[in-house]
Amino acid sequence: MRKLTFRNGDILPALGLGTWKSEPGEVFKAVLEALKVGYRHIDCAYIYGNEKEIGDALQKAFKEDICTREEIFITSKLWNNAHLPVDVEPALKQTLKDLQLDYLDLYLMHWPVAQKPESEFPKSGDDFLGPDHAPIQKTWEAMEKLVGKGLTKHIGVANYNIANLKKLREIASIKPEMNQVELHPRLVQEELVEFCKKHDILMTAYSPLGSKDRASQMKKDDEPDLFELDVIKNIADKYSKTPAQILIAFALNRGISVIPKSTNAGRIKQNLEADAIDLSAEEVKAISKEDKNYRFVDGSFWTQEGSPYTMEDLWG
Ligand code: NAP
Repeated sequence: MRKLTFRNGDILPALGLGTWKSEPGEVFKAVLEALKVGYRHIDCAYIYGNEKEIGDALQKAFKEDICTREEIFITSKLWNNAHLPVDVEPALKQTLKDLQLDYLDLYLMHWPVAQKPESEFPKSGDDFLGPDHAPIQKTWEAMEKLVGKGLTKHIGVANYNIANLKKLREIASIKPEMNQVELHPRLVQEELVEFCKKHDILMTAYSPLGSKDRASQMKKDDEPDLFELDVIKNIADKYSKTPAQILIAFALNRGISVIPKSTNAGRIKQNLEADAIDLSAEEVKAISKEDKNYRFVDGSFWTQEGSPYTMEDLWG
């Protein structure tokens, strides 16, 4: 299994299982199946609403000797309504309780966006706290304390552009160790990847398959189908692999962790097998040429009328 290495030498199994939209009732089986076939990295988040059931699956896996706690890598994420420093530790403790764990391997700030504590999802501009009331730097300082308390081994961010990463790096005593962002052939993010490499920030690619099971209100009529890109289909034919496996291998061959979501046993196994695919530098380059700076998860829900955040703040 490919691995990435944190600054302190800790190991991240590069290929993990995504769990967004994995419904209660399905996610238990999916996580257990993934651990059985060899996944050792599970990507979770408070807002996915399924951490309790993932916790049950982890407990069953430990009891059945499928794996030990030390052998697996568990990530979760701080939701936007817990950015006030006083709310950060309780949020992580809730996640630990739900996952039935004593510590996380990695805790991420899910977005550089702060909502009011009572707002789980913003319905209007009033639901945001904004950068003046809840600056990301203050939230980060609270995240750093979690490491000292042994509640998480590593801390990082998700959906951060270079400008926001710089803001944290300026004040951090623990500099961000991970940036989890959308990455695939239509969103190659060369500049961000270079910045992260230069500053020793590991990256994780989310929505690597195009996130087709997103709710319809998050979708655009003309959105691309990554499985249908000629370059992906041709390389898949060449190696007798599926387009999904080539998309996963694309991230891995760039030195980036990747977390495809599936609740289907066959596809969970198929996705893991992508770990063994070695693409040539020319193939990675050919796939990268498909870049159109296209986002499936474009963050427009954070920039609604009255919000203090703009698309430029997020991605500019
Ligand atoms: P994704 O992994 O790109 O795509 C998931 C979709 O692909 C599902 O419909 C799944 O269906 C299907 N699929 C999986 N394997 C397949 C295969 N081999 N062949 C054909 N279809 C396949 O989308 P995602 O869930 O958006 O992203 C992955 C993970 O990244 C998330 O689950 C989450 O953990 C994380 N994420 C993080 C953020 C963030 O803000 N940090 C945002 C988005 C996602 P089945 O389940 O039926 O197989």
